[in-house]
Amino acid sequence: MGEITIVGGGFAGVEAAWAAAQRGVRVKLVEMRPVSSTAVHKTGDLAELVCSNSFKSNLLTNASGVLKEEMRMLGSLVLPIAARHSVPAGEALAVDREPFAREVTAAVEACDLITIERREVTSLPEDRPLIIATGPLTGAALAAEIAQLTGAESLSFFDAVAPTVTAESLDMSRIFRASRRGRGNDLSVAAPDDVAQGCSAPQLDNADYLNCPFEKEEYLAFWQALCDAEKAPVHGEEDSGAKMVFFEMCVPVEELARRGPRTLAFGPMKPIGLEDPRTGRRPYAVVQLRQENREGTLWGLVGFQTRLKWGEQSRVLRMIPGLQHAEFVRYGVIHRNTYVNSPRVLLPGCGLREAEGVFLAGQITGVEGYLESAATGIVAGINAARLVQGQEAVVPPVNTVLGSLCRYLVDTDARHFSPMNSNWGIVPELETPIKDKREKARLKSERALQEMRQWSASLGA
Ligand SMILES: Cc1cc2nc3c(=O)[nH]c(=O)nc-3n(C[C@H](O)[C@H](O)[C@H](O)COP(=O)(O)OP(=O)(O)OC[C@H]3O[C@@H](n4cnc5c(N)ncnc54)[C@H](O)[C@@H]3O)c2cc1C
Repeated sequence: MGEITIVGGGFAGVEAAWAAAQRGVRVKLVEMRPVSSTAVHKTGDLAELVCSNSFKSNLLTNASGVLKEEMRMLGSLVLPIAARHSVPAGEALAVDREPFAREVTAAVEACDLITIERREVTSLPEDRPLIIATGPLTGAALAAEIAQLTGAESLSFFDAVAPTVTAESLDMSRIFRASRRGRGNDLSVAAPDDVAQGCSAPQLDNADYLNCPFEKEEYLAFWQALCDAEKAPVHGEEDSGAKMVFFEMCVPVEELARRGPRTLAFGPMKPIGLEDPRTGRRPYAVVQLRQENREGTLWGLVGFQTRLKWGEQSRVLRMIPGLQHAEFVRYGVIHRNTYVNSPRVLLPGCGLREAEGVFLAGQITGVEGYLESAATGIVAGINAARLVQGQEAVVPPVNTVLGSLCRYLVDTDARHFSPMNSNWGIVPELETPIKDKREKARLKSERALQEMRQWSASLGA
């Protein structure tokens, strides 16, 4: 029987290896640490946590909690180990990172079907099936090969995205839907996220934008709050020669604010071509929201790339008219992150469209977070094993959190694709609309777990 090669022994790589081995398939796992390392990893252990020690909520009314339960049903390696090394963290699952990673490493090393090679892969192996799981800090040589395989314009080196909010948390009595008059999106500066994603210019049809209008006093108070807000510390960019280019092209909104009180009003908050139907006037400034998923349940703040601390983002961005009760499913971040434009290059089930037998897993697919990465590793591992066994690729049901993440990767507008974590906004709505948020989450959770139970049973996992 054939063998699967996996490059990268992080969260995605170890889960992929485990999933394949559980199905009786041999795996060669190639990990470069400790021979070479990244700017943020510190040990040679597999599945090292590079920053926070939290795997987020354990609650089954939270999409993160449900994702964990789904992963357990699929035979996750890391979750039982995380439970053994958990530390008190309220409703969240947090771990003592070093013993956690040591036990993951020991478990993989002890598996008869997995062989680990410690070396850096600098060119794409010819082996098939091949799973690439080299993470957000994939080295330059391999990244260049991946770019060649997927198309240079499909690979990003930075995650420079604005926060995303849920539609149901918006106060529509203060927001209006409108196009800028004139041609296209009339911003004089390219929306930085479009540049960072590799689009040469934003070709936006903004007929469907939501506009949050500011009076002058509201704008000045917002500007001051942005200037005073606290930034998050920076990690992971030290090894990047692209840093300067990046910052010229993608200036965080708080940096724009610090250039002067009017800079935002002439940039991403420019009100040109917009008239508030309730006042019949052009607002003093405007924050535009762009639809992020097909259902219209998620909206991104256009041009609001930020590196403010997450708590500060909640506080300051809720000063935007209409966002006073905003629910943030994803905060703005600007950091080093290698990921492909999955809607362009990936098949459902993590296979690459243009390279048969090659799968991507983890953060490089455009999911974000330790467990989201681990979960896509399980999908890639299952499908690579199925390929060895002469079976078709499978995809988790779309009503599960993992299935919704997989669908997000392939069924999002490629022009505005940005990395995503697990949240209820990407999970399809219930057949009967429910207003109460807790009840809705409970019902989505029940549906997800039931469908995942059936699906995993159908796989024999
Ligand atoms: C600075 C920073 C902070 C972060 N903080 C958080 C956080 O707090 N919470 C969170 O959930 N997520 C965080 N993330 C995202 C986090 O990295 C991912 O969630 C998760 O680690 C991704 O899993 P992965 O398996 O895709 O990549 P990784 O876990 O990074 O694993 C990739 C593996 O591939 C190996 N590798 C890379 N290139 C090669 C090569 N050429 N040859 C052989 N091996 C190779 C690496 O050594 C590594 O072990 C952070 C990321 C960064 C960069």
